[in-house]
Amino acid sequence: MPHEVLLELKDVRRSYNSGASAVEVLHGINLTVRRGEMVAIIGPSGSGKSTLMNIIGCLDNPSSGSYRVMGQDTLNMQPDELAALRRDFFGFIFQRYHLLGHLCARENVQVPAVYAGVRKSKRDGRAKELLGSLGLAERVEYRPAQLSGGQQQRVSIARALMNGGQIILADEPTGALDTKSGQDVMRTLQELNAQGHTIIIVTHDPRIAACAHRVISIEDGTIKSDTISADVPDPLARAESETAGAGVLAERPVINNQWARSWSSHLDRFKEAFVMAYRAMLSNRMRTMLTMLGIIIGIMAVVSVVALARGASEQIISNIAAMGTNTITVYPGARMGDVRSGRVRSLTARDLVALQGQPFADSVSASVQTSSLIRRGANESNATVQGVSLDLFRVYGLLIKSGRIFSQGELEQMAQVCVIDDNTAKLFFPTEDPIGKTMIVGKVGLRIIGVLAPSDSFIIRGEQPTIFMPYTAVMTRLLNQNYLSSIVLRIKDGFSTPVAESSIKRILIRRHGREDFFLQSSDTIMKSIEEATMTFTLMISAIAVISLVVGGIGVMNIMLVSVTERTREIGIRMAVGARQSDILSQFLIEAVMVCMLGGLLGVLCSYLIGQLIMHFVPTIVLSYSLDSIIAAVLTSSAIGIAFGFMPARSASRLNPIEALSRE
Ligand code: ADP
Repeated sequence: MPHEVLLELKDVRRSYNSGASAVEVLHGINLTVRRGEMVAIIGPSGSGKSTLMNIIGCLDNPSSGSYRVMGQDTLNMQPDELAALRRDFFGFIFQRYHLLGHLCARENVQVPAVYAGVRKSKRDGRAKELLGSLGLAERVEYRPAQLSGGQQQRVSIARALMNGGQIILADEPTGALDTKSGQDVMRTLQELNAQGHTIIIVTHDPRIAACAHRVISIEDGTIKSDTISADVPDPLARAESETAGAGVLAERPVINNQWARSWSSHLDRFKEAFVMAYRAMLSNRMRTMLTMLGIIIGIMAVVSVVALARGASEQIISNIAAMGTNTITVYPGARMGDVRSGRVRSLTARDLVALQGQPFADSVSASVQTSSLIRRGANESNATVQGVSLDLFRVYGLLIKSGRIFSQGELEQMAQVCVIDDNTAKLFFPTEDPIGKTMIVGKVGLRIIGVLAPSDSFIIRGEQPTIFMPYTAVMTRLLNQNYLSSIVLRIKDGFSTPVAESSIKRILIRRHGREDFFLQSSDTIMKSIEEATMTFTLMISAIAVISLVVGGIGVMNIMLVSVTERTREIGIRMAVGARQSDILSQFLIEAVMVCMLGGLLGVLCSYLIGQLIMHFVPTIVLSYSLDSIIAAVLTSSAIGIAFGFMPARSASRLNPIEALSRE
């Protein structure tokens, strides 16, 4: 009675290249398998059984001839199309079970359905049902290592049935089992056949072959005999009579093709690839950790350097802000360091007066600066002498601790008075009150009228004594010059620095007839600090990036090792229908996860070390910005993609048969 033809091989040949010549292993096989048959392919070792089986299971292509699966010619099919056939029609049972060691029975059974795009809830339910009906209800959460050989083979039968298993290909299914377990497995296969599954068994054992109703004997790559034993009932009749009562084993594919092509299915497969990558990482904790180390160190270095630079610049900027003032200083010359600025003598007290009247000026001070030896009795020291106007103390927010600042009258009279800073007071008057005492500055005697409170303003430089005199007195009595070194102006609240700057320029150009001065504001100082910090950060980051690249190469290395080590796993996944893209994404996700996690740990380590440093060395400030953390994690992920791609692609391009045969 003719039944539907499932598989049809016509003049199939397969040859392998051995050195320069090709050796033909299958010599023109003609074979037709119909639905519901149970076929045993028997022959001595080396006769070509496995080669034939691989072609039937779409794991391999014939060198010539044609092979049709349900009418579809497989000749010019791409690897992914062959994978689709394997997924949808075939179920494989291997001699050595080929289960994935890091997954439990339930998860192993589900693998083909993951690639077929079956919803998690559905495949989970079906996996449990299948395992239950094969007597493994109590073992669903066991890993292969916790199961006996017979139990493992039953798990692999359940896996073969997961997507429907219309055609079950069993390669020496009892080869690794004891007699009793072997008999159980054969009984299960017979039951499955009775429920309508088409079964093809490869064996060298005539007793196993005797369980099938059709025995094909193969020798030296050719079919020697093809006999249908009389006492096996008509497969289709059995199939029809028993399918009605058959349980979950006989169910047809659970694949919903519409859903399998949908976005949520893709997302689901991505999620699965993610879980698989995560599992693989967990099962190799030590190696994963070591792989991450390069990335952790690289990211830690970058994040710490950026935080350090940011901390330093924030500190400087906050120091400038702590001066409490927004100031603009007018200097003679074209720019800082201009060698000709000493010859520019146009900045005068009249400019000061002109600027004082401006609406944006809160206070304006002249400045004539020099350094000089100061003496009192036998005590002497070098000091900075600041010739200033009254307003200077307000411009820089300097406070008087005792005494007073000089008056307008004293300024106009070029009075020989001075205000000293805290350093000078401590140095020259450790025990007595300085007010009213005299000091010799250069050759001029000065009466001290005030002492400043300690301040971190930059106008008082570190430990160096600084004294403040009326600028008129410095100009005439100390320097004998009639021009100013600079004018400093504090901007009134509510006025912007650029507006004030352009007004000052306009006024002074009008007065001098040309631009023989330049302006420096706290804004420009901040900007140049920011620029310097940026340059510094970029430079160090470039060095750190090199360490990241080295880390990335480490990741690539380990991923290549991992692919080699897990070649058999890749083969199994491909046999049950994984696409090349599934394998690619699994390994790529693994690489990205390793790197991303490394990045996050790097950020965390940097933060913890930063906290420690700041605790023990309070002068160092590390400032972590969200931007730099996000950039670090993104960079590490990009490294994962860049360096994980090559190993992942080589994994996805493995030949499934070669991969499967790797131990
Ligand atoms: P069986 O399964 O019957 O033991 P195989 O199909 O495994 O036989 O092998 C048939 C012949 O093909 C053997 O002589 C084997 O050496 C050869 N063969 C199988 N695979 C390859 C291969 N990848 N490259 C070269 N020769 C191979």
